[in-house]
Amino acid sequence: MIGEDILAFHHRVTVVDAHCDTVLSLADTGRRLGPRSDQGQVDLDRLAEGGVDVQFFAVCTQPRIRPEGSLLLAVRLLERLLAEIDSHATRVGVARSAADLEALAVAGRLAAVLALEGGEPLQGDLAVLNAFHRLGVRAITLTWNLRNDLADGVMERSGSGLTGFGLEVVEEMKRLGMLVDVSHLCVRAFWDVLEREPPVIASHSAASALCPHPRNLTDDQLRGLAAQGGVVGVTFMPALIDSDPARADLDRVADHILHIAAVAGPEHVGLGSDFDGMGRGPRGLEDATCFPALTARLFERGLNHREVEGILGGNFLRALQQIREG
Ligand SMILES: [Zn+2]
Repeated sequence: MIGEDILAFHHRVTVVDAHCDTVLSLADTGRRLGPRSDQGQVDLDRLAEGGVDVQFFAVCTQPRIRPEGSLLLAVRLLERLLAEIDSHATRVGVARSAADLEALAVAGRLAAVLALEGGEPLQGDLAVLNAFHRLGVRAITLTWNLRNDLADGVMERSGSGLTGFGLEVVEEMKRLGMLVDVSHLCVRAFWDVLEREPPVIASHSAASALCPHPRNLTDDQLRGLAAQGGVVGVTFMPALIDSDPARADLDRVADHILHIAAVAGPEHVGLGSDFDGMGRGPRGLEDATCFPALTARLFERGLNHREVEGILGGNFLRALQQIREG
């Protein structure tokens, strides 16, 4: 049972979830964004119950497709998402700038931040990047686990850094006011990105010191991100939380949050659930209604109000101050 005062705190502060795969879930199941569904983990009703104010929606074209069809698929998925947002316009709107985030908050509407997961749809062309920016995309996870024409993902053996095109993309994202997302990126490309000093986040990762999965970040990487003002969205993906995913639960997620706060500083930690991108959530974090339980647990684990407010969303709000219209 969560105390009244903690629930009130949770609903008063801004809660940001920096990653979900709900767009794919909508496309796969035909369900809608609005009404509460018994499928998946995220819809507007469950986000409202969970007190989420800002939700990143990833348009992910991997692993289902190689580069050839990815632009068409990304445009289709983005259109599906924008149509869903339009048809629930009293409850949700697209945040294209820091001013939009504030206006949506005042209106009590969910702010949707549009993201691409994997740079394949860019098709090696900066004009396509600019077009996605015009459509409202404000963050790009440069790779998924595999190689693309920007860089290698974490599951490639070669671990190649940013390609020439990858470098151009990072520079152009910096110019446009977009967040470069280093989750899924191989280690060498991670450091290549930091060297260019763009607005940077890791939307859905965890700490490899606690769970040595290639998708997770080492303490050195955590410190590097923090040195640039970056934020790590701690994922709830069971396989990234515990090497025995069956043991993943609310406390184990809190362990990662506390570890990253200790290594990188509490102002560099956020949340990036990856809901709708996993079969079953960790115990206690089964879907988007469960965020208040995490707030309660962070207090129980000794964090103070200012730290918890930052982790729940204040830190990502700071990063989001950098997004803007072209
Ligand atoms: Zn992912």
